[in-house]
Amino acid sequence: MDKRKVTKIGVLTSGGDAPGMNAAVRAVVRTGNYYGLSVFGIMRGYSGMVEDDIVHMTNRSVANIIQRGGTILKTARCLEFREPAGREKAYHNLVKHGIDGLVVIGGDGSFRGAQQFSSEYDIPCIGLPGTIDKDIAGSDVTIGFDTAVNTAVEAIDKIRDTMDAHDRLFLVEVMGRDAGYIALHSGIATGAENILIPETDTDIEELIQSLNEKERRKKLVNLVVVAEGDKFGGAENIAKIIRERIPAADTRVCILGHIQRGGSPTCSDRLIASHMGYYAVESLMVGRNNVMVGVINNKIHYTPLDKAVKEKQKIGQEWMKIVKILAS
Ligand code: ADP
Repeated sequence: MDKRKVTKIGVLTSGGDAPGMNAAVRAVVRTGNYYGLSVFGIMRGYSGMVEDDIVHMTNRSVANIIQRGGTILKTARCLEFREPAGREKAYHNLVKHGIDGLVVIGGDGSFRGAQQFSSEYDIPCIGLPGTIDKDIAGSDVTIGFDTAVNTAVEAIDKIRDTMDAHDRLFLVEVMGRDAGYIALHSGIATGAENILIPETDTDIEELIQSLNEKERRKKLVNLVVVAEGDKFGGAENIAKIIRERIPAADTRVCILGHIQRGGSPTCSDRLIASHMGYYAVESLMVGRNNVMVGVINNKIHYTPLDKAVKEKQKIGQEWMKIVKILAS
């Protein structure tokens, strides 16, 4: 641990946005101010660091945002920060403002950036997992997942009503390029017959067979939830195969897309964001560096940033078995 005292801290949101990021920013700002630190908001992720788009934040700057989706600090993907020259510029801008500690709210890419930066410069970085994908090791929960998955559940419930009315086969595509958590959780919660995720090798023959069986059993609705990063590249591609192999089925596709990122964060996301935001500031004050604040079994847990990005959260295989049993 680094025993130097931090006095001025910066907070940024980076990479893909997630509902609850605002609640985390609010917690960081208010905790920092409570402990007498100066807090700066860095706009548009690492872009604000590179371009010196950095603003002083008071408690009033974060009023009335806990319930809002998106992020008041904006977010961006910053190519310049991937280069040593970009990070050097960023460092000098932080020094100019006297910022001696950073809180990075984002996903694995943002953590890779933070890790790289804090290995080159003497500014401690604390990560908060802000991602709807929940694909980060070292935390049972990530800011934004609960809201995204509930948005998906609400939408799929509505689709189920209409597919039931027409006896249709519906493929609903949810977000998740590399991670199937949204698909798995929303699929189980909406009673999907099949759930296709990037972590498992989709067996198209098995899928066709199970859909054919349901035809024989006269199962009225067939709901398949597909993560966008499934082996076949999403719901449209799977639908094409199903239409060729089971022409009698009235096969429809719905891609939920960006609605899963927006909206007011759930109570759960607001709570974890507030909890983690508080501990991010506390971490900087006690000299932690290069760690992510997570929650495991309802307790705050610190994981080195490199471990958080390397060891993705694993999907329990028993869930896939449960999906099959419950869909019968
Ligand atoms: P997420 O945090 O949602 O996974 P990205 O993968 O887009 O999003 O990463 C966000 C930003 O983090 C990138 O735009 C880039 O500025 C920075 N970043 C990602 N990887 C690195 C890296 N290896 N070195 C430096 N910066 C990085």
